[in-house]
Order: sequence, then C-alpha cells, then structure tokens
Amino acid sequence: MSSFALEPNPDPVPPEERAKQLVDPGFGRVFTDHMAIAHYDEDHGWRDARITARGPIDMSPAASVLHYAQEIFEGLKAYARPNGGAALFRPDANARRFNASARRLAMPELPEEMFLDSIRALVRADLGWIPPSEEGSLYLRPFMFASEAFLGMRSAARYLYIVMASSVGSYFKGAPSVSLWVTREYTRAAPGGTGAAKCGGNYAASLVAQAEAVRNGCDQVVFLDAVERRWVEELGGMNIFFVFEDGSLATPPLGGTILAGITRDSIITLARDIGLTVREEPYAIEQWQADAESGRLTEAFACGTAAVVTAIGSVNGAEGGFTIGGQSVGPVTQRIRERLVAIQRGQAPDPHAWIEEIA
Ligand SMILES: *Cc1c(COP(=O)(O)O)cnc(C)c1O
Repeated sequence: MSSFALEPNPDPVPPEERAKQLVDPGFGRVFTDHMAIAHYDEDHGWRDARITARGPIDMSPAASVLHYAQEIFEGLKAYARPNGGAALFRPDANARRFNASARRLAMPELPEEMFLDSIRALVRADLGWIPPSEEGSLYLRPFMFASEAFLGMRSAARYLYIVMASSVGSYFKGAPSVSLWVTREYTRAAPGGTGAAKCGGNYAASLVAQAEAVRNGCDQVVFLDAVERRWVEELGGMNIFFVFEDGSLATPPLGGTILAGITRDSIITLARDIGLTVREEPYAIEQWQADAESGRLTEAFACGTAAVVTAIGSVNGAEGGFTIGGQSVGPVTQRIRERLVAIQRGQAPDPHAWIEEIA
C-alpha cells in the first residue's frame, strides 16, 4: 500500500489534447494531470500525503520560502517500457540526496520510503503522459519548501512536499555540442556554502552568470572554484568530464562545492566497467586550454538527468577561447552516452541494479 492515496483528477486533459501536447513537449512546459503532495509540521510530522489533481496551492505571502528561500528539489526521469509500464533510474539515490539537501537547509527529512512511494504513485497515475518518442520521458520534480507564515529568522516549522511530473523531449535541441562561457566575475559555490545541496537558491545565484554566457554567444556557463578562481567545478546544473588521448577520463572531485550528480556517479561506474581509468581530480582552466590545444585532451562532456550526456564543443572567455575535438561528439562521449541510455531505456542489462520497474 502506498502512503500516497490516489484522488483521481476529476477533470483530466482529454486524450486528444494530451496527444497533441506530447508531440513536441520540449523541456518543463507540459505538466501532467496529477501531483503528489504532503504536509509537515513540527507537532505532527509528515501527514496528509496524497496524489491529487495538479493545481494551484494556497500560500500566505508571509510563507518563509518567499523571503528566506528554504527550498530544495530533485530531478529524475521515468522511462516508458514496451509493456506499457515505466522504469525509474536510481530513485533511491535521489531520495538520499534529497535528505542531504534537507539537512543542509535545516529542513525536516522525508523518509526515503515516502519519497519513493510518492514517485511510484505519481508515475502510475500519469503513465499516459510519457511521450511516445525515442527521446521522451517523464521528468519528475520533487521539491520541498518552508510554508510557515513567519518572518523571524529561524528554520520554519511547516513545510510542503510536492512532486510534479513533466512530459519532456530532449533538453538541448539541434547542435551536436554546446559552447561554454567561463565566468570570471561570478562563482556558484564557496567552501562551507550550499554548493553540494540541490536548492533553488544556487540556481537563482547562477542565472546572472548564465545570462552573461548567452550575451557572449555561448550556450552554458561553466564555473571556477571560488577561492583560487582556477579549478573547473561544474556548469549551472550539470557536472563535467574530460577525456584524454590515452582514453582516460577525469572529473572534478566532490568537495562540498560541487553537486554530487547521480549521472556523474553512474558514468564513473560505467566507464570503469568498460576498462577506462577515471580520475576524480582538480583540473585547472589553463591546463584545460593547454591540453585541448596540444591534443592531450580529446573530448569533454557535461552530464545530468535533464541533458543526459552532452558534448562540449568550445570554451570561451574574456581572454579568448579554444575548441575541443572538432566540436562534434567524440567516440568516448558517444560510447558512454549510449551505454547509459541503453540501461535507462531497458535495452541493455542492468548489472548494478539501477532500474526499478513500475507496473
Ligand atoms: C542536479 C544537478 C546536477 C546533475 O545531477 P544528476 O543527479 O546527474 O541529475 C549537476 N549539477 C547541479 C548544480 C545540479 O543541480
């Protein structure tokens, strides 16, 4: 029995209209008929958990999230299976990371089983919303925020947990690779800060740097460390990997300022499975340029649940830039992407038991 009881939406989107929306859903624009919701207060803990019609929520303008940004979120996908069911990829890792984020933001934890139940029950209710296309999936967005109406300075006593589902296609459309902008003005995360927590505030603080990237003709911003302004950390919402001539890979180490991506972790495992060496080590921006120019570095890619694995074609900054491997998708990037996607889509064996089937 799920702890999230189903109250079916009495007025779902008609099937013809839904089919239209699923043709080219883009990313994060199309939402399903239901959402999961649960309330927390200090006296009673979590309660009133249900799957209900997606709709507006009542909130006081004094809700402390609107003032002090106590908010965390997750992102994971459900993939269609030929039998009409769906599959989740490592949802237990999202449940654990959600609670790690909650601890950092002084918010209550959500029992892992409850997190998983909310996802399973919502996917079951909205199975018909997985786009039929090859690239399509149901993107799940669990989040929690402080709903208490109170302006004092302390962690709130009341919270809402909600999961929305969004029918999505591919994140980056068109070009085979993305261009990066190295921001020298802004940083994403400082030691002791919230860089390792998946919280909305990190994104709010990164948007001006992303806008700087776009103003300079680039797709995405890449951040350097806040202390020496030298070590490559990650993109606004994706981790980064470097591929070398000798076939080895490197990725910046987790040290509190980088988000511990589940895609990142899975790629480290898959690359080692196929016999590649993966180092978790700091990599300086000057070294990146020197290695790209000498040919020692042959590929680079960004990774995350939303964008999966995306080749990096060029890196630009105020002092100029450099290109990587002909700006196409390199063979190692391609191989890793295919391996990961095949497991997620049920087209390859799942040696690490990462997949949870939902009937
Ligand atoms: C979510 C996120 C990632 C990617 O994490 P995945 O678990 O792979 O989706 C990377 N960096 C940041 C800042 C993120 O918020």
